[in-house]
Amino acid sequence: MENTAIKNKYTAIPITELEQSAFCQTEKPKTETLDVEFGSGVRWQSLPIQYMKLPPKEIETQIHKKRAILGQEVLILGHHYQRDEIIQFADITGDSFKLAQHAATNTEAKTVIFCGVHFMAETAAALAQPDQKVILPNMTAGCSMSDMAKPEDVLECWNNLNEILDMSSITPLTYMNSAASIKSLCGENNGYVCTSSNAAKVMEKAFEQTDKILFLPDQHLGRNTAKTLGIPLEKMIVWNPYKDLGGNSLEKIKESKVILWKGHCSVHTRFNTDQISEARAKYPDINILVHPECTMEVVDSADYVGSTEYIRTTVGNASKGSVWGIGTEISMVNRLSKANPDKTVFCLDPIVCPCSTMYRIHPAYLLWVIDNLLEGKVVNTIDLDPSIAKNSKIALDRMLAIK
Ligand code: SF4
Repeated sequence: MENTAIKNKYTAIPITELEQSAFCQTEKPKTETLDVEFGSGVRWQSLPIQYMKLPPKEIETQIHKKRAILGQEVLILGHHYQRDEIIQFADITGDSFKLAQHAATNTEAKTVIFCGVHFMAETAAALAQPDQKVILPNMTAGCSMSDMAKPEDVLECWNNLNEILDMSSITPLTYMNSAASIKSLCGENNGYVCTSSNAAKVMEKAFEQTDKILFLPDQHLGRNTAKTLGIPLEKMIVWNPYKDLGGNSLEKIKESKVILWKGHCSVHTRFNTDQISEARAKYPDINILVHPECTMEVVDSADYVGSTEYIRTTVGNASKGSVWGIGTEISMVNRLSKANPDKTVFCLDPIVCPCSTMYRIHPAYLLWVIDNLLEGKVVNTIDLDPSIAKNSKIALDRMLAIK
C-alpha cells in the first residue's frame, strides 16, 4: 500500500532528542545562575531579566519565604527526576503514576505547580477540578520520547490500521509519556493510558477486550511488558512513522499481537549490558535494578525491573551493606545514594547525563511562578482543548480504575 503523504514529512529527528545530552558531564551537575545555564545549548523559555543573574542560594531563600505565604492554596508536585534544588520545595514527590493520582484527588489547592515535564502537567490538567489551574514552570520542559509520537503521525497510523484490520480487534494503549491528544485518541477508541508502575496490569486488561494492542510511544516499555505477559517476540512488530505501513507488510500487521511505536527514552537507552557486566565484575554481590524504559537486553540482564517509585522503595528497603547498580535518571540515583548512606548505590552509566528536559525546571522558573501568584497572576497554565481534556480523562480514568 503506497502512501506518498507519509514520505518526506520530516527531515530531522525531533530537536529535543538532539538536545538530550546537553547537560552530560563527568561530575554531579551543579545549579548555576540561569544566564549561565542558558549557555548549555538547549531551548529555554525566556524570563524577565531580574531572574537571570540571581544566585541559586538567593533564589532558594526567596522561594522558602514566598511559598509559605501562598500556603495550601498551592500544591507543588515534583517528579523524581527533578534536580535537588527543586525537589526540596515539592509537597509531594513521586513517579508519574503517583503524581497523577494526587492530581486526581487533591481538591484543596487552587493551583498545582507541576515540576516535571509537559505531558505530566497536561495529565494533571486533564484530571484537575474545573476551578484548578495547573502550571508548568518552564514551557520548554518537554520529553524527547513524547515528541517521537507526533499526534498527526499516530492518527495516520490509526487510520492505516483501520483500513487493514477490524478495529474492534485492536486496543490503543499509550504510556503516560505522550501528548494529551494521543491519550485522547485512546479515550475515544476504548483504549487506556498506562505508566511504568502499572503497564503489565493495563496491558492484561487491554488483552481481555481485544487480541491486538497498539502500544505508544515507548517500544522498550511495550516490548518488556508484553514479554512478561508471555507474548513471543515474533508477535511484536515496530511501527516506524517514517515508513509506509510503519515499515511492515500487511501479513505481519495482521499476525501481530503488539504493534510497538518506534519511540524510546534517550536517557534510559544510554544503559547497556557492558555496563552491567563491568558492575558485576567489580561487585560480585551487586543487585542490578533498572527502569523498564531500558532496552530488552538490559532488562533481561538485570535482577530487578521497575518504575522510579519501585526503584526508590526497593533500595530504601534493602539490607545494610548491599550494593545497587541502578539504570535510571542520574538526579534520582544521586538522591537515592544520599538517602541510603549504609548501602552502595550508583548509576550504571559512568557519564552523568540528567534528563535535559526535566533539568529545564531551574529554580528561577519556580520563583517567577510564585512571584506572579503573589501578584494574583497565573502564568504558564496548561490549557487543554475541552474535547481532548474529556477524552484523555476517559483513558486516564480507565487506567486509574484498574486495581
Ligand atoms: S527521562 Fe526519558 S521519558 Fe522521562 S522525561 Fe526524560 S526523556 Fe522523557
